[in-house]
Amino acid sequence: MATFPAESQPVFDRIAFFFALEAEGLALVRELDLPESSPLDPALPARYFEGSVGDPAIEVAVAFAGVDPEHRIDRIGTAPATLAAYLLCRRFQPDLLVNAGTCGGFRAAGARVGSVYVGTDAFLFHDHWIPLPRFDAFGVGRIPARPPKEVVDLLDAEPGVVSSGDSFDTNERELEFFRREKVAAKDMEAAAVARVAQDLGVPFVAIKAVTDLVDHPEPGHEAFARNLKRVSGLLEIRLRELVAGLQRRKAGDGGEAG
Ligand code: SAH
Repeated sequence: MATFPAESQPVFDRIAFFFALEAEGLALVRELDLPESSPLDPALPARYFEGSVGDPAIEVAVAFAGVDPEHRIDRIGTAPATLAAYLLCRRFQPDLLVNAGTCGGFRAAGARVGSVYVGTDAFLFHDHWIPLPRFDAFGVGRIPARPPKEVVDLLDAEPGVVSSGDSFDTNERELEFFRREKVAAKDMEAAAVARVAQDLGVPFVAIKAVTDLVDHPEPGHEAFARNLKRVSGLLEIRLRELVAGLQRRKAGDGGEAG
């Protein structure tokens, strides 16, 4: 009779994180003691950190889109994210790419400031309206979200659809889109990074912590500014738990969080 060997469990030991904002990710860099390495490209402001963490070691890389030299703010949004995530993957060759950061959440879906989501089902673009056959679907993206189960199991995060666009602000048309598509997290990068990961065949996870509530009367940017520091701290704790869990998996101690 045939025997069925236990399914082999993948080990993730080259983890790359991409953050849009330094405020979202520099604490993780410091906590993991990752030295800054040469830029991803000398012509770009993107920053890159890389090092070994723990014993048995896993390799961790962190990249930021970087500070725009003219406007002196982080280069948020999809185009800088695509570029930096592509360079990050080519440089570091990760076996897991994580886009971590903040997002707008939805009271109607039960979110609160500080809720943490892991992107599931599909990554969407909510501001790419192209009324031409096939381009319309390309615009919305619907890039399949297939976060590895082993990684999701290590994360204390709610599953939800993440939708990206290049505006922080929103409008009626997008609000209708969020309702129709049951969007849980509105950000400015995840779908762009998901497409890079899909093209390069790199397993991808988006982890997004809520700084502001899209369906709340308070202007989102005010809530964002007030909550960014605290919520980035909550996010950092989850990311450190993830790294620790991946280390335990590598050491063969199982992967249960906690
Ligand atoms: N005004 C901010 C700039 C950050 S914009 C500042 O003063 O620093 C928002 C960033 O956080 C983006 O990278 C985006 O991915 C995320 N984000 C948080 N809440 C968001 C929301 N409601 N809509 C879109 N992006 C949001």
